[in-house]
Amino acid sequence: MKKIRFYIALYAAKLSQFLLKILGRNATYFPGKIAIRLCKDFLKHITPPKTVIAVTGTNGKTTVSNLISSILTENGYSITNNSFGSNVQAGIISALIEDTTLCGKPKKDIAILEVDERSSLLIYPQMAPDYLVCNNIMRDSLKRNAHTEFISYIINSALPASTKLILNADDIIAATLGPNNKQKTYFGLDAEKPEANTPQHIRDIVYCPSCGALLESEYVRYNHIGRHYCPNCDFQSPTPDYLITNIDRTNNTFTIRHDSDSETYTLINDNIVNVYNFGAVIALLHEIGLSYEQISKGFSQSKIVKTRFETIQSGNTNITMLMAKGQNPIACARCYDYVARSQVENKGLVIIVDDLDDNINNSESTCWLYDCDYTALKDPSIKQIIFGGPRCKDHVLRAQLAGVDAEKISICENATKAAGMIDLTKCQNVFVLHELYRAADAKAAKEMLISMGRGEL
Ligand SMILES: [Zn+2]
Repeated sequence: MKKIRFYIALYAAKLSQFLLKILGRNATYFPGKIAIRLCKDFLKHITPPKTVIAVTGTNGKTTVSNLISSILTENGYSITNNSFGSNVQAGIISALIEDTTLCGKPKKDIAILEVDERSSLLIYPQMAPDYLVCNNIMRDSLKRNAHTEFISYIINSALPASTKLILNADDIIAATLGPNNKQKTYFGLDAEKPEANTPQHIRDIVYCPSCGALLESEYVRYNHIGRHYCPNCDFQSPTPDYLITNIDRTNNTFTIRHDSDSETYTLINDNIVNVYNFGAVIALLHEIGLSYEQISKGFSQSKIVKTRFETIQSGNTNITMLMAKGQNPIACARCYDYVARSQVENKGLVIIVDDLDDNINNSESTCWLYDCDYTALKDPSIKQIIFGGPRCKDHVLRAQLAGVDAEKISICENATKAAGMIDLTKCQNVFVLHELYRAADAKAAKEMLISMGRGEL
């Protein structure tokens, strides 16, 4: 009976996928929704590809799953993934249905599934992943994700003990996932260690999860990312099996050591959060059996997708488009930090990070601004900051509380026009930080800056 229900759901979902495509509509969520409506445990019955890789965590899921997919594709594997769709249950089911025959057989070798942390309970108990990659667990939207203990609890409650975990050793929350999972591989970053153990006011773990004593740190890169130990028991950051030992920004390479091998790869982006993403990708690909040559070849041909990172030259102006998620304080703070650390002078920033969808569906919260560290914006290389969007005044208040010079801040409530306020005579390097769902504003800012750079505006 269950099997009949599964096939009815599969055919109905496939039909809806077909019709949506004919109509030119997005078919990456609704077909999965139909399948679940007709067969609640659809995921339990569908036969997945031979290897299922889940990618989860707060930040970097999309980048990690896209890189894994592109390197595997480059090496001749056929891939099912949900990179163009939703990362909740219906999105994952839609991706699997797309690559399933009418007999219910998978058409592809490997599934790379980006999984929203909160969807874990709806996915892993029905379809056990062979591998789960988790780069970090950090504070995210308070309304959606509550806090990191809640997210860790959800993942641990859902995770089958048979799944092999690929975890970030430098994120002590992610590193302690899967207490019942025996197979764990860790990656970490040893290069560019901070010299001082700078106290971080915004961090998501303070006390030892084993005994409750105050954790001490060997060093901290940002938030709780770093190396920690408990002075009262043997709890400490795990030793990485894959360790990034060098980042060569001149030659655009980085080196990773595992076992006795030292391997060098193309550094396709120098943001430290992406270096961690690369560690996750390399560890996973080695663990599933790819050779250095296979991974390296794929890496040298990969790029961070343009919607997340893009650089453009227009006249004498260098424009960098950076995706910064609204309501996600750490992701946003890392973008501020990236801009401050960029090795250029005379920087201008256009910041368009208000989450308007949040405003439509719910009561908008601005508390995330106070979880986000704005101090990087004080950097003297940043000459001008424009906050664009309806919450621009809230950003100004937050920035001033962080000590950012009011003289260099301007606001523009109409986000599409914000970039026009940048003074290109002062700022030759313009960074546009835009929210994931503000693509139209980001496009408008990019086009305006390109025209301004050419002297057309
Ligand atoms: Zn302890």
